[in-house]
Amino acid sequence: MSLAEQMDTVTEDTAGTVDRHATTETFDSTDPGSGALVGVFPVHDADAVQETVDRARPAARQWAELGWDGRRQRLTAYRGYLARRLNELADLVHRENGKPHADAILEITLAIDHLAWAGAHARKTLGSRKVSAGMLAANHAAYLEYQPLGVIGVIGPWNYPVFTPMGSIAYALAAGNAVVFKPSEYTPAIGAWLAAAWRAAVPDCEDAFQVVTGFGETGAALCRAGVDKLAFTGSAPTGRKVMAACAETLTPVLMELGGKDAMIVDDDADVVAAADAAVWGAMSNGGQTCIGIERAYATSAVYDRFVAEVTAQVQKLRPGSDDEASYGPMTMASQTGIVRRHVHEATSAGGRVVRGEADPSLFPGEHYLAPTVLLDVPEDNVAIREETFGPTLTITKVRDAEEALELTNTSAHGLGGAVFSKSKERGLDLARRMRSGMTSVNSVLTFASIPALPFGGVGESGFGRIHGEDGLKEFTRAKAITRQRVALPVNLMSFSRPASATDALARVMGMIHGRHR
Ligand code: NDP
Repeated sequence: MSLAEQMDTVTEDTAGTVDRHATTETFDSTDPGSGALVGVFPVHDADAVQETVDRARPAARQWAELGWDGRRQRLTAYRGYLARRLNELADLVHRENGKPHADAILEITLAIDHLAWAGAHARKTLGSRKVSAGMLAANHAAYLEYQPLGVIGVIGPWNYPVFTPMGSIAYALAAGNAVVFKPSEYTPAIGAWLAAAWRAAVPDCEDAFQVVTGFGETGAALCRAGVDKLAFTGSAPTGRKVMAACAETLTPVLMELGGKDAMIVDDDADVVAAADAAVWGAMSNGGQTCIGIERAYATSAVYDRFVAEVTAQVQKLRPGSDDEASYGPMTMASQTGIVRRHVHEATSAGGRVVRGEADPSLFPGEHYLAPTVLLDVPEDNVAIREETFGPTLTITKVRDAEEALELTNTSAHGLGGAVFSKSKERGLDLARRMRSGMTSVNSVLTFASIPALPFGGVGESGFGRIHGEDGLKEFTRAKAITRQRVALPVNLMSFSRPASATDALARVMGMIHGRHR
């Protein structure tokens, strides 16, 4: 029986593929489009979470002892397993998260690519290397290496239920840690599937990646279970709660939070390409993308053309649950109200709405939102300042790209962003000065698909980095080692050193550094 079939047949007794522990309480996971049951999962309490973390401890040691080659081999087996069952997992993602099957395929493909990169680059990035010992310790050899932390707690959101947590899980595992993952209460089946796939692909170290399920309290229990680091992806308000819980035990945290990403469309931009990217960046996944484009600033030279092109492209979008749909339902029903409130606040403040699809008969259910473009929204409006997380895009006319950059950078968030300009220098200059962790020039979201690039934000968008070398180092501690190669006649770090030795040292320092003004 395939894992997908197991998912279809879960009962209260088995509660999916997650170890129940002594937990009796369960919760249902449902298809956000149809309301159909996807699976029944345990609500793990603090004891169950603690047991899981305790079981991960010896697994972490075993996993670390496998060494670079042993871990790489098993991570390769894991990605092979995921790749062979790509359609099965995509089907589950479609049913539990609501996104179209094709988007699920794209998401899983990216996750597999990151797994491959993390496994292949762990030794080179983290392995022991010799560094220069410098003048004062020239008789020593100096070594730097990045050692695993132990057990990493990962708390993930529902919007990219494979790709986003895998950004922490893959890099934490590749760095030599065990992982306990708490998926969102909206996507527990996907989390359970990922852990079941691990057990199947890596049976000799199956406890190195485990899943606990439940609501916010289960996540809070993970923060307090003595994990060596907590990687959190979610909203800033929950991030604050997670940090407060982790502070009790001085557990370090990685915070991947929300965004309000902007696109700057400069005078010389390819307007058609910019509009295409803006529509995809804003509306794909129903706008439920942390690095989605929520604001566009177009210079007065291109504004009219850009608005016309975006409007034309948005007309073609259709939300739904079928294979041809542009995007699915809102995964979390309550988000629908937030998006509608933002649109209402924008129009109440004088904003104009360009609605791509106004015919309600074309909407398959109440949790499907129309792609909505908003013009002339004041900068202090909630639709410009707060994360909307729905299929909306504001377009604002600006004098020039400098004004666009200024408005972009006033946001409290600073996750990603995009610049459209035909000039390479201008595009890169604007990208560098954008206050965000990541910026794409002449495309959107591309940075997330390049495993070598770090992913993370500034300000309200959080801190720390997943992906790339920084993402591997995020789940390690730097270890410094020195080895004395030869003993010098005079040891400066000994009570036996003669007084003349420090006088000589002061003279040498004066000669080397004192001449600089
Ligand atoms: P939430 O902040 O609501 O939840 C995130 C996770 O935290 C969920 O698993 C949730 O569990 C859990 N949680 C809730 N309360 C607590 C608590 N007190 N202690 C510990 N864990 C808790 O975010 P969403 O799931 O709604 O995700 C959407 C948000 O995530 C958006 O703001 C989006 O921008 C951001 N995001 C950021 C990304 C990035 O990389 N920067 C990537 C993707 C999304 P439960 O679901 O059971 O309540």
